[in-house]
Amino acid sequence: MSRSAHPAGPRHADVLPEGHYTAPPADLNVLDEKVWSRTVARNEDGVVTVGGIEVTRLADEFGTPAYFLDETDFRARCRAWADAFGKDADVFYAGKAFLSRAVVRWLREEGLNLDVCSGGELAIALDAGMPADRIAFHGNNKSVAEIERAVKAGVGRIVLDSFQEIVRVAHIAQDLGTRQRVQIRVTVGVEAHTHEFIATAHEDQKFGLALAGGQAAEAVRRAIRLDGLELIGIHSHIGSQIFDMAGFEVAARRVVSLLAEIRDEHGVELPEIDLGGGLGIAYTSDDDPREPHEIAKALTDIVTRECEAAGLATPRISVEPGRAIVGPTAFTLYEVGTVKPLEGLRTYVSVDGGMSDNIRTALYDAEYSVALVSRTSDAEPMLSRVVGKHCESGDIVVKDAFLPADLAPGDLIAVPATGAYCRAMASNYNHALRPPVVAVRDGEARVIVRRETEEDLLRLDVG
Ligand SMILES: *Cc1c(COP(=O)(O)O)cnc(C)c1O
Repeated sequence: MSRSAHPAGPRHADVLPEGHYTAPPADLNVLDEKVWSRTVARNEDGVVTVGGIEVTRLADEFGTPAYFLDETDFRARCRAWADAFGKDADVFYAGKAFLSRAVVRWLREEGLNLDVCSGGELAIALDAGMPADRIAFHGNNKSVAEIERAVKAGVGRIVLDSFQEIVRVAHIAQDLGTRQRVQIRVTVGVEAHTHEFIATAHEDQKFGLALAGGQAAEAVRRAIRLDGLELIGIHSHIGSQIFDMAGFEVAARRVVSLLAEIRDEHGVELPEIDLGGGLGIAYTSDDDPREPHEIAKALTDIVTRECEAAGLATPRISVEPGRAIVGPTAFTLYEVGTVKPLEGLRTYVSVDGGMSDNIRTALYDAEYSVALVSRTSDAEPMLSRVVGKHCESGDIVVKDAFLPADLAPGDLIAVPATGAYCRAMASNYNHALRPPVVAVRDGEARVIVRRETEEDLLRLDVG
């Protein structure tokens, strides 16, 4: 466990081991199963396959760039999370990581619940038949229209994020003649990223009501009094891409102590706590994520222990993994367009996508891996930077990685672990056409989100 008191908080870039990329892997043709989805393999001809289909065939049929989502892997991860937490807990998939109607159907079939945080996500969820009582609605500034729609649909819970929203949701529910089940999102003074977390007294951020200073307790006081609300629990979400369970431990302890305060003041034991998402995945071979069953055990143990100590019945726990379910299930397939070696520095490899299909590198300094997937190569490793085709020098997809020195225009390369926050955050910068998402399973590939066309662009531009 490591802690940092860095005033700006821990950042991904600050916590990478020194000399991260100095040594190339022993064999560039080997695919590290940690960063590739379950059914990805290299066939006898050296071509990478997913769900038994060669990427060369996928590129011919669907074009590049494109995201290929391993449905078998997605479903297996859903089941692993559901099994790990069992009957006495709830797993909510965080839809913001990537949501489509097919995804909603898979979640429904695999028994997961769903978090949404906008009217658009709610529309996709409802349209694809997710039962409303399995939907949780989040967000720090839900509009009145969004709240009305969610309450009318009968969503299982709305997570309240501010004093204004407590009243807003209560009034809307009352006007609609109903009582809305709600949780209150509290900020517990834990900021967690990757390998570090910091525990602070206050929370300088837009989300939630702070435990420190009594904001959260005051929110509970107000919510409990309102007829339109049924307060079912407390919600905490501490960060993203977290490997260290210690941050969750501090959060759980602080949430349970609020539950004890609520019992002492109001004479009620709230039946649920939600510990949020944020569980890390392997983007590179250096990342070592926890398995769902380890996470479930750690969280359940902490909550049980803290509740026993406080003399509380153990509440029903829910968690909200987004990245940890969908992140590892997809890769982005690109075609190499140009290769520019810079002597003594690195080689710039330009692909046919870029920051429009993966903004995470530019936005968060995110780390990714990359591999040549249309063939094998015995050439020397060359230090490479995979860049896009946008008019912006920060348009980087993979900052530092090794690719074979004989890489050439027309080769296909793939960036794994792009299932989360890539298509979901994709933009039309430079009027790029957002790539399709193709689901692959058992030798069949099917478009689940189609590629944008110039007609789509022109339809929005009304002239
Ligand atoms: C973003 C978010 C999640 C999911 O985070 P991941 O890092 O994708 O697991 C879960 N809960 C809340 C409230 C969030 O905002």
